[in-house]
Amino acid sequence: MLSGLPWDQWPLYASAIVFILGFGTIAFFFLLAISAPYGRHARDGWGPGIPAKPGWIVMEAPSPICFALLFFMYGGYTRAVPLILLGLWQLHYVYRAFIFPLRMRGGDKSKPLLTVALAFLFNIANGATNGFALAKLAPHLDNTWLSEPRFIAGLFVFFVGYFINHQSDAILRDLRKPGETGYKIPYGGAYRWVSAPNYLGEIIEWIGFAIAAWTLPGWAFAYFTACNLIPRALDHHRWYRDKFDDYPESRRAVIPHIL
Ligand code: NDP
Repeated sequence: MLSGLPWDQWPLYASAIVFILGFGTIAFFFLLAISAPYGRHARDGWGPGIPAKPGWIVMEAPSPICFALLFFMYGGYTRAVPLILLGLWQLHYVYRAFIFPLRMRGGDKSKPLLTVALAFLFNIANGATNGFALAKLAPHLDNTWLSEPRFIAGLFVFFVGYFINHQSDAILRDLRKPGETGYKIPYGGAYRWVSAPNYLGEIIEWIGFAIAAWTLPGWAFAYFTACNLIPRALDHHRWYRDKFDDYPESRRAVIPHIL
């Protein structure tokens, strides 16, 4: 599959896709062994830190910015379907980069600069390749794609994931009063079934985007998201079970009834 990448014409694009896929694969095995050192799993030994709120903004903002830059530079605005997909990306990322961090509670914790730097680089590559692919390398996204089952199903899946992700983020936020920093057992929404429905929603969202866009960077990002978030969901799940004696028995980590 990778040999089919446009190495001659767009070597930077091809390299960025390899970076995203490679980073996701390495992150998966690394994070199965070592929990990502932020939030409840924060600990010493990961170098200098940066406060969590600006950390989130710095690491996530490159994604909507680079996406939009490449998209408009390469003329993506001339077709309806790429414009709709741009809208989905910005809908997610304007929230994640600017609204989510500003509404976080207990968010004056520190994040390791190393994780912020890695996420910053990743988001440049991911935003840029996805914006570029939609504008320049997706001839299938003409107006006939508006009635294509993959587009319609992808939009549906995206919004299901979006709903689960937002609802779960809101449930977590409401567990703390302003100024509180401790942890409680979340209930309601998809917490009925899993410990990390915010991650489940995020994974579903990007699978939906990949189906709707049907581009290689779309699928690479869905793959990366699952590689990054499944091990962290398993960590959260173990942590909840260790910390709370009354943690609901039937709850799984991230996939209802399965994992
Ligand atoms: P977490 O679930 O670890 O934390 C989210 C927020 O809720 C934090 O402010 C956290 O506080 C607080 N919180 C979590 N659990 C509890 C609890 N039991 N009681 C009280 N407060 C709680 O999520 P992440 O920070 O890892 O991720 C945030 C969002 O970003 C998610 O929606 C995720 O899907 C998305 N994301 C996407 C990635 C991708 O690869 N696409 C990568 C990483 C995140 P504290 O920080 O103090 O723990």
